[in-house]
Formats: sequence, structure tokens, C-alpha cells
Amino acid sequence: MKTSKLPSIKKADFKKIRNDFPLIVNTLVRGKKLIYLNNAATTQKPQVVIDAINNYYEKENSNANRGADYLSEQLTIKCEQTRQKIKLYLNARFTEEIVFTRGTTEAINLVAYSWGFYNLKKGDEIIISEMEHHSNIVPWHIISRLTGAKIRKLAIENDGTIKLDNLKKLLNKNTKLVTIVHVSNVLGTVNNIREICDLAHEQGAYVLTDGAQSSGHMKIDLQELGSDFFTISGHKVYGPTGIGALYIKKEMFDQIHPFHGGGHMIKKVTIEDSNYKDVPDMLEAGTMPLAEIVGLSSALDYVTDIDMENITKWEMELGAYAYDVIRKVRGIKIYGPSLDKKTAIFSFTHDEIHPHDIATVLDYEGIAIRAGHHCTQPLMNRFGIQATARVSLSFYNTKEEIDRFGVALEKAVSFFKK
Ligand code: PMP
Repeated sequence: MKTSKLPSIKKADFKKIRNDFPLIVNTLVRGKKLIYLNNAATTQKPQVVIDAINNYYEKENSNANRGADYLSEQLTIKCEQTRQKIKLYLNARFTEEIVFTRGTTEAINLVAYSWGFYNLKKGDEIIISEMEHHSNIVPWHIISRLTGAKIRKLAIENDGTIKLDNLKKLLNKNTKLVTIVHVSNVLGTVNNIREICDLAHEQGAYVLTDGAQSSGHMKIDLQELGSDFFTISGHKVYGPTGIGALYIKKEMFDQIHPFHGGGHMIKKVTIEDSNYKDVPDMLEAGTMPLAEIVGLSSALDYVTDIDMENITKWEMELGAYAYDVIRKVRGIKIYGPSLDKKTAIFSFTHDEIHPHDIATVLDYEGIAIRAGHHCTQPLMNRFGIQATARVSLSFYNTKEEIDRFGVALEKAVSFFKK
């Protein structure tokens, strides 16, 4: 990804910032210092987030929206402040455009059931790119079976990018939704959401953007991107698991129906019938993951404080360093576009050694990477492979860690080639 020329905070500060992550600095794996290079799976949590969750259970635990008592009122305010923080973090226009979900998977399922199920019919088309995570494919298969809407594949190029001309060829008056990941969890490709939205909107189609891998690593400006739906995952933005958010553009509200039925989302219930509040309350039935909302709030403060432009800049510097280290190892093939079109996620295969074997040997050295299909089987099929090994970086990683990883990778290759 191209980064701006803004003055970065000193690199030394990132060394200091690393100390905020107890698991990163304290963990030994078989006597060796942990090197955590699996940040696309989930990020580690800074102490402030861990403290916020502890503090919640020690001092704040109650149920939001459920009473006139002090604790409940305070918690309700805190949840709504978190919604406001997410709105600012994503530069959405209105706070009510933000719905709490358990994460990206639930957010996409919400769009599928609350919008797709009610608004799609036989003859309609949903365009899905070949680089989607299963969580942005399978819900659409379910909806396609329920409604008769057809799935159309947006093929990707050999370098792991999307050619807008291919999208143009697929778009037509029957296209109702284009659903595309912002940053690929395998290739790191940053898709051009602004242009995708322009093309889709010209045809009257809506755009869902899976922001699971972008929102922790680059500045998100929804007013600039133009997506109608956008998702984030708390656990990939240094917050807890079990919490995330879905952005729904206000203009879509009248097409949205309830997701789960239950407490809080209703205006009136009789035995025979019920009617519902507006978005977002309509989509937040039952007790929400409150400790997790409080943890996410603290995570967003933490990341905002470091400043996302600084994070992107430093991660891309680490990424360039890692790319050189991986590329030099004999027999390795790296998938995805050039560094200016991606984030610091590197998927690779070796011409003789299985990715799982590479990951296992690295684990003996205390190095955590991911190997597998990464919940992207169509993408694996596209490249004619079963799996890749994947290194994904965060701002708390260091060049020294990447060097140690490089030595271990060389060792793994020579071990299996003996
Ligand atoms: N989409 C992408 C691109 C992802 O990387 C992931 C997580 N691996 C998901 C969706 C699922 O997100 P969550 O864990 O929040 O459900």
C-alpha cells in the first residue's frame, strides 16, 4: 500500500508500544520467545483493553437498556459512546448507521438475512469476488437457495488483483449486490472499493465491503469509499472476540428487516403480533456482548491514539522488510500483488514442502504463522493449490523478529530438503 509522507512517530516509539502487549512480550514457546506473525487470524490485546474488561466485571457489570438503576444507565451511555466512536473511526455520517454484531461473519449474515432474504428474487444477481473469505460466500449461497438469486463470480488476475473491466462486464440491470473484501486475508490485496462502488451504483446495485482485514491496518473513510454495508471485527482491531460492527448506509434502512427477534428490538408485542424499533435497535435483540463492547471501546481509543497513519506506515515498512526476507528463500512462491497494492500479509508456498510442514517447524522455533486454506477455498482453486503458509504483521512486530523468522524458514527448507 502506498503510504503518505506524514511525519511518523519515532520508530523507537513502536518498540515502546510493543510493551503494551503482555502476551507478546512475556510468552515463551518451548523456552523460546514467541514471535507472533499470525495477526490476520487475530490480533493480541494491549493491557488497556484487558484492564477495561476486568474493570467492567469488577465495577460496571449490569445490563444495558434494561433499567433505571445507576449501573444500567452508565453502561447504556458507554455502549452508545462506543457506537459513536465506531462512527468516527469509520467516518460514517450517522451514529445510527452502526450496528453491533459478534464480528464480520455475523455482520454479513445479518445483511444476507435482513436485507438479502427480503429484497432478492429469482433473476437477481449477486457478484462475489474469487478472493472472498467463506463468511462472504456461504451466507449468499444460503440466500441464493432461499430466493432464487444467482451468484456470479468476479474472477481475479494472476497477481491477485481485480480488473475493473471484468466487473463492468458482469454488472447489468439484474445485479443487486456486489460483495467484495476490502483487504484479502490471504493476498493482502487492497481492493479499490471507491471505483467498485461507483460502477455498481451506476447499475443500481449495492455494495457490501468486508472490512475485517482493513479496519485494523488502514484509515477507513466510509464517506469516501461509498459502500452501502461495511463490516469490522473487534478482535482484528486489538479488541476482544465476540464483538464487531456492521455499518448500514442510512438510505438502506427502509429495506432492512429484523435479524433476531427478542428483547429490546420491539416497540410493542402482543401474543398475536409485534412491531419493531428502527435500525440499529431493531437489529440488536437480546443482551449484547457488553464486556466486549467496553473492550472494543478501549481498543479503538488505543489505536486512535497511536494514529492509523503511523500504524500503516510502520506496518508497510515491516512488510517490505519481510517481503525481502521471504522472497530470498529458495523454492518459495509468494502470492498477491506488489507491495504498493497490498497490506503486510504474505502468503507463500514452497515447490516441494507442504505449508503445514513449514508452519510446524516454525512453531518449534516459537514462531506462529498460519497454514491452510484460510477459509478461501475458491481462491486456493484459482491458484491450483490446497493451502499456503501465511505471515501477517502488526505494528508490534519488529525487524529482529522478521530476521529470526527468516533464519527459521531457511532451516525448515533445508530440514525437509535433506
Ligand atoms: N472476512 C475476512 C477477510 C477475514 O479475514 C475474517 C477472519 N478471518 C472474517 C471475514 C471473519 O471475521 P470474524 O472472525 O469477525 O467473524
